[in-house]
Amino acid sequence: MTTLAIIGGQVLLPDLTVERADLLVDRDAGEIVEIGSDLEGDERLDASGGLVIPGLVNGHCHVAMSLLRGYADDKPLDAWLREDIWPAEGALTAEDVRAGAELGLLEMIEAGTTAFADMYFEVGEIVEAVETAGVRARLGHGIVTVGKDDAAARADAEESLAVAREFAGAADGRISTAFMPHSLTTVGTEYLEEFVPKARDAGVPIHYHANETDEEVAPIVEEEGVRPLVYAAERGILEPQDFLAHAVHVDREEIDLLAERGTGVIHCPASNMKLASGMAPVEEMREAGVTVGIGTDGAASNNDLDPFGEARDAAMVGKLASGDASAVPADAVVGMATAGSADAVGIEGGRLEEGAPADIAVVDLDSAHLTPRHDLVSHLAYAVRGSDVRHTVCGGEVLMRNREVLTLDSEGVRERAQKRAEAVAERA
Ligand SMILES: [Zn+2]
Repeated sequence: MTTLAIIGGQVLLPDLTVERADLLVDRDAGEIVEIGSDLEGDERLDASGGLVIPGLVNGHCHVAMSLLRGYADDKPLDAWLREDIWPAEGALTAEDVRAGAELGLLEMIEAGTTAFADMYFEVGEIVEAVETAGVRARLGHGIVTVGKDDAAARADAEESLAVAREFAGAADGRISTAFMPHSLTTVGTEYLEEFVPKARDAGVPIHYHANETDEEVAPIVEEEGVRPLVYAAERGILEPQDFLAHAVHVDREEIDLLAERGTGVIHCPASNMKLASGMAPVEEMREAGVTVGIGTDGAASNNDLDPFGEARDAAMVGKLASGDASAVPADAVVGMATAGSADAVGIEGGRLEEGAPADIAVVDLDSAHLTPRHDLVSHLAYAVRGSDVRHTVCGGEVLMRNREVLTLDSEGVRERAQKRAEAVAERA
């Protein structure tokens, strides 16, 4: 066994208490073997003056969209997608997707993110980028059937199925997959009915957008006579292993249905605010027992992939939505950004304990905006920034040491992304 010792820091435990301790990692198994004092390892990471936390889990992203960061802002979802994002995405080549994915992964590692769930296209490129970057991911191809003839729609659904089958278990098991209809209004019922049973046969979960805007709810209520998540349950895509992004416009019946079915929800507060989609009833969902995680969504609607910013937004918007300052408290959002997201998307992690995957971030507390230190969970929720992360570790591999990313060539990744983004804007 070769070991890594993370020493001299304070450690955030699964019950969200903080203890002064060292961590010992078995690098071969990729697991935490001991949390205790005076631990020694073959390799060491200095955590003195730092807080050792589980690597953050970004529950819903389109990582390659980092190439479209700042390309189009200040429009509602429908116009933003149709006028700007879809035409630009139509101009993306496989190489562009690769460059955007590497850029997003660089940003994630720099901010302590060790796992994410993604939906995009050219997924083979994203798989290779994740293999190199060293994080964990649940990846898949997003299906859109509206506006396509039957042959093109079926080909898109077949692609999502093929990707889910092909890449499950890739990167030594760090990559898992899902079948990914884009949303309940952009994929026709007949395609869900035909392909969801095939995804079940392949043993993969379903990841989709749901109830993001009012415009996504009304057509289903009109045409089907039921709320969208009742429709989803009837189509067989509201199972415990499934997870959906947004759930902004959900009613009481839908919240109870989510809790009863055990389907995970990924809350994306920055994206919901920026596109003025609405405020998700996070406190009600939590109280009902729904598994809620946090996601950044794509960088084009955020515009960064900072999990700490997202946790802070979740707390703030949760309070506004409830009209109650005690709603969605600090410990809730810290839990949602770690174990909550991990559980919702079905990725192991989100907790520092013996036997858990060694997915770890070390936050440097030595700065003005983190002084004084009354309550470190409060700091994680409200004051820490992604740029405070000193080291990032996934599966026992050090991905960033002292803010230097070791698995990606930071300068090269940024240069390629800049060049490709300029060319895409010209072609779109
Ligand atoms: Zn999304």
